[in-house]
Amino acid sequence: MPGMIFLAMAHISGDDRSQVLLLPEAVDDYVGSDNVVRFIDAFVDSLDLATAGFTRVQPKATGRPGYDPADLLKLYIYGYLNRVRSSRRLEAEARRNIEVIWLLRRLTPDFKTIADFRRDNRAAFRQVFREFVVLCRDLDLFGRELIAVDGTRIKAVNSRERNFTKAKLAKAMAESDERLARYLKQLDAADKDDDGGPSDGHVDRLQEKIAAIKDRRGRLEEHGKALTESGQDQISLTDPDARAMHSSSRIGVGYNIQIAVDTKHKLIAEQQVHNKVSDLGLLAETAGAARETLGVDKIAAVADRGYFKIEDIEACEAAGVVPYVPKPQRGSAAAKGFFTKDQFRYDAQTDAYACPGGQALRRRGRRPVRDGVQLIVYANAAACRTCALKARCTAAASRDVTRYENEAVLDRMAERLAAHPEVLDQRRESVEHPFGSVKQWMGQGAFLMRRLENVRAEFSLTAIAYNLRRAITLVGIPALIGAVRA
Ligand code: SF4
Repeated sequence: MPGMIFLAMAHISGDDRSQVLLLPEAVDDYVGSDNVVRFIDAFVDSLDLATAGFTRVQPKATGRPGYDPADLLKLYIYGYLNRVRSSRRLEAEARRNIEVIWLLRRLTPDFKTIADFRRDNRAAFRQVFREFVVLCRDLDLFGRELIAVDGTRIKAVNSRERNFTKAKLAKAMAESDERLARYLKQLDAADKDDDGGPSDGHVDRLQEKIAAIKDRRGRLEEHGKALTESGQDQISLTDPDARAMHSSSRIGVGYNIQIAVDTKHKLIAEQQVHNKVSDLGLLAETAGAARETLGVDKIAAVADRGYFKIEDIEACEAAGVVPYVPKPQRGSAAAKGFFTKDQFRYDAQTDAYACPGGQALRRRGRRPVRDGVQLIVYANAAACRTCALKARCTAAASRDVTRYENEAVLDRMAERLAAHPEVLDQRRESVEHPFGSVKQWMGQGAFLMRRLENVRAEFSLTAIAYNLRRAITLVGIPALIGAVRA
């Protein structure tokens, strides 16, 4: 612009690399008083690692000295907190990261030592998770009134292509057979056509394809044999414990992660890893363990419809858990648009159902459903024959309504849900945060290790990292350090 003077500008520049600096002499001076490594150090030092199940807590009397498990545990907690999970990357951090240098007092274990420690102590990480929950409990970070239980799938080290069910194997074998038949037919045609037909190269290619298909067919047969011998309903070739399961309408091969989240601050009170493909039957186990760790006699637990199983609801009550699980609309009546069971009112005094037509349906027999569980059948055939509502009720001669022998437990739960529908919203709000955070930290939600016991160790460390991050946000590092030393 006319009349304006432009001054020469420069970027911010660093120091000359050859300049002698007066840096602090002690490593401790590089780590602030509110640095998380100071908490990790104090927390691990407060643990009884031998009781938790860690090996080599007592140094060997002879031979080359090994690393103290406390140091390697500190490294893992720091690593998972900072999304560094692989042993090779942890080895690198121990050499270059000033926080880790402080935490390990300049120890530099190699990746194999680091990896062996996680494998050898895999069951003990769960106890460390629990100890941190107890610490947060002492800081009053758990409401200990309502927990939300939910499950998600975390991907295993096993692709879908290397997982087979009986049906998938049968389909793959049929496809192989069909392709083999087609190639053999083409080979026959090539053999007959010896004048101006396909070149030798074409025949060679066909033979290669036939050999490859036969090879694949043989491997599929072996997988089928292994599947039958395992007694399981599916087989995974890379990680034998992983299972194909649904998650958010997609099927993938992974593990079923169960968490119980306290609704006060969304801290994880209990975490478990299973290879069961469904959440059915996992509520009492997860919520009951959370209740114990939280140190209360009774706790309410809310879960989605996927947990609705009468035996599990009953087990919750026996385990001091007051369950809130909405009833799924299952059964053929709902699917066909007939009156649902909710529209039939049970009267315990008369042991009869009042149907939408105002008739009483009484006991007519029993029907076993699964091991040790029976359904009682209620009906009133005479009333149905002359009922004006029958077209909306059943396509059969009369309508049956069934009731579990112990269905009172479901009636009590339905009453609780009707009185407190807000717990369903609390469930949604509570479980989304931990699952979202955990999957983000785990690099799109995938385990690094194979086998159930190993991924359990991995998830315990992940859950510790999640809770630690939450606790830092809630009370800060000095308060956490103070709680450890109290
Ligand atoms: S069809 Fe039978 S069960 Fe259904 S409303 Fe009529 S009387 Fe009641």
